Amino acid sequence: MMPQRRLPGIRLLERLPQVRGRYSENAPLAKYTWFRVGGPAEVVFQPADRDDLLSFLAGKPDTVPVTLLGTGSNLLVRDGGVPGVVIRLGRPFAQIDIDGREVLCGAGALDANVAKAARLAGLGGLEFLFGVPGTIGGALRMNAGAYGAELRDVFLGAEACDRSGVLKTLAPQDMGFGYRHAQVPTDWIFLGARLLGRPDSPDRIAERMAAIQGERDDSQPIRTRTGGSTFKNPPPETADGRKAWQLIDEAGCRGLRRGGAMVSEKHCNFLINTGGASAADIEALGEEVRRRVRETSGVVLEWEIRRIGLPAPANDVGGRP
Ligand SMILES: Cc1cc2nc3c(=O)[nH]c(=O)nc-3n(C[C@H](O)[C@H](O)[C@H](O)COP(=O)(O)OP(=O)(O)OC[C@H]3O[C@@H](n4cnc5c(N)ncnc54)[C@H](O)[C@@H]3O)c2cc1C
Repeated sequence: MMPQRRLPGIRLLERLPQVRGRYSENAPLAKYTWFRVGGPAEVVFQPADRDDLLSFLAGKPDTVPVTLLGTGSNLLVRDGGVPGVVIRLGRPFAQIDIDGREVLCGAGALDANVAKAARLAGLGGLEFLFGVPGTIGGALRMNAGAYGAELRDVFLGAEACDRSGVLKTLAPQDMGFGYRHAQVPTDWIFLGARLLGRPDSPDRIAERMAAIQGERDDSQPIRTRTGGSTFKNPPPETADGRKAWQLIDEAGCRGLRRGGAMVSEKHCNFLINTGGASAADIEALGEEVRRRVRETSGVVLEWEIRRIGLPAPANDVGGRP
């Protein structure tokens, strides 16, 4: 892992408004991401509640960048860290309530917990969330999906706020959902969502959740340090219907290594930190995979994993001990 380094400049903390939640300066982010790599945030802010978040946004200087972090299951944080404030919503935003067929969830609620709450209430259709290891905020931003369903299929509405803390209500047509994408301004923060379930027996729902879990265990390296699918599947017409993993396999990249990073043997659209990888190793390996796939198939893969922050300065010697 990279040595922790203070980002240059005047102390950001002194320019931020008073809050009831918690600020942490020069805060390591690796532990908050599935890859377990990356440098520190200049400041991490964990709001005490919704009002605390909104007044922070209204009071912070306009020029301070803000980045949202869910469970970091779709993120590669670069080794030089993230300038500005990284917000973790966490527990105060993790409430889940049931109202008839609607599941009302905070953006910090884990997808798996939403699926479990829906099952207990006898609401089906949300089983696909059981295997997605993120929060509802991340699922809204990514239009998370699995096994033939995605968030837009169950989406009724969401609440968000802009970078100044002004509240927004979003209907399905405002979300611009596409494949692993929502067309909502990148600096808006999701606060919660209303999802639609359909009445079903909890036992049948539990069976489907178990089947999803079993299939994942068999096909994905879910117990490793990974970021899930690295690249989006290309549009069928550009790759003769082949998925990203097939193109990667055909390009001979299964098991390919760069430093401590490796293309998973089990599912070759997953990159893995085998232990001592730096973010630079992982990103360079991803770029090498893209290069080889372009050479062998002509298809240009698009990153699904979001890469944030700055590379380590040039005089930093590697990311491995
Ligand atoms: C083992 C494994 C399996 C996976 N399987 C799947 C799968 O089957 N299907 C699938 O779709 N994905 C899958 N993923 C990817 C990932 O779990 C999803 O993209 C998930 O929705 C990301 O949620 P997160 O909370 O971890 O978001 P993060 O990774 O922390 O962030 C992802 C993006 O969302 C933004 N974001 C997070 N919270 C908010 C918020 N409140 N408001 C605004 N923006 C926000 C972040 O800024 C970032 O741009 C998998 C990942 C892993 C590691």
